[in-house]
Amino acid sequence: MIDTLIPAGEPWMGVVRRGQAFRIVDLEGNQAVDTLFYNADDTHEHYSAQNTIQAQSRIYLTTGSVLLSNRGRSMLRIEDDTCGRHDTLGGACACESNMVRYALEKRYMHSCRDSFLLAIARDDRGMNKRDVVSNINFFMNVPVTPDGKLSFEDGISAPGKYVEMRAEMDVTVLVSNCPQLNNPCNGYNPTPVRMLVWDPS
Ligand SMILES: [Zn+2]
Repeated sequence: MIDTLIPAGEPWMGVVRRGQAFRIVDLEGNQAVDTLFYNADDTHEHYSAQNTIQAQSRIYLTTGSVLLSNRGRSMLRIEDDTCGRHDTLGGACACESNMVRYALEKRYMHSCRDSFLLAIARDDRGMNKRDVVSNINFFMNVPVTPDGKLSFEDGISAPGKYVEMRAEMDVTVLVSNCPQLNNPCNGYNPTPVRMLVWDPS
């Protein structure tokens, strides 16, 4: 059982066992939660945005989406979603994207990629930057425009909205509660989120 708050802008790692429910609550609304999943017994098996999108023939994630691994296996299934849709195309913010998208001097601001790397460096699973692959951005609104571009828009989430999954294998969860201040993904104001893991009766 896990019931924890991730402060604004901080990373988190945890394990969800097969059959357990995993809920992320957007406590204050419009908070991007950059997330990756790994097989808890073998971190070389990880979430695959490509396999997931291809299998469901949809670019957004919501209730019914099955999160597939790079080995084509089901890692988790989204069972409830009061937000409506989640991005898995936009990737994690990084010092490089901060610089290219915003300004040279934004390079040194906090980013999800740095948070991911900090979390796995503190952890003892032996992971490194090669393990940080294309991720899910829960609650983040990244619409694909008619001419095929991605745009970062004000969030579609709101205080108390949540997404709930059921694990279909033992997974290690890696989260960066996004610290981004330069686009509307966090409403320009990063806020805490709540993580809940439990055994459904
Ligand atoms: Zn971010």
